[in-house]
Amino acid sequence: MRFTFFNDFLALVFPETCCMCKRSLFDFENQLCRVCQGKLPLTTYHLRPQNNDLAIKIMGLTKAGNVMAFLRFTKKGMSQRLLHQLKYRNKPELGQVLGKLYGQRLKQSGIEIRWDFIIAVPLHPLKEKRRGYNQSLQFALGLASTLDILIDQSLVRTKFTVTQTKKSRIARIENVEKVFGLTGKTNLEGKSILLVDDVMTTGATLSACANVLLDAGARQVDLAVIAAGR
Ligand SMILES: [Zn+2]
Repeated sequence: MRFTFFNDFLALVFPETCCMCKRSLFDFENQLCRVCQGKLPLTTYHLRPQNNDLAIKIMGLTKAGNVMAFLRFTKKGMSQRLLHQLKYRNKPELGQVLGKLYGQRLKQSGIEIRWDFIIAVPLHPLKEKRRGYNQSLQFALGLASTLDILIDQSLVRTKFTVTQTKKSRIARIENVEKVFGLTGKTNLEGKSILLVDDVMTTGATLSACANVLLDAGARQVDLAVIAAGR
């Protein structure tokens, strides 16, 4: 009880601030102020989801269908700063906010929303425990609530992979093979799935996950990430 009171007191003295510009947020804002929302580097991948540089990147790795990204990733740009806040600054809610914003954008674009499930690329349990949450699942939750689609969590990580950043493209692709599996709790046969992750670099992780879902009989697997770059 004392802590609740203390938190209320803190909120009064130090109101919630925007994670980008640090301005105090209004009651109707969450994590990201309206001004910064207006500056997000949005992409239009969802309007040509089979014919964009992300779709071309994963060609040959998986038979996943549409490939989309909410934001354009640029080093030291806004999307990188947002991802850093989401992953390393204990801001799970930011992931949900971004998912909701993307969900609204997809709805408004008029594209057909026909997925049976949204599935997030899983973190290894140890890593998730350390961080306290899976940032991709938070993004998935935001998308799911706006698009009114169920989340499925039967995709799991079976091996702990070493950090990907210093590996070559081929090594990365080999590194993620056989890392993912299914719990078998959900029948994915004939289902249309939106698979989501925080960021797409080589596409190796997303492709490995998509292949597990397709091997389990999924009819269609589409990919969406918070941010991707060339
Ligand atoms: Zn702001």
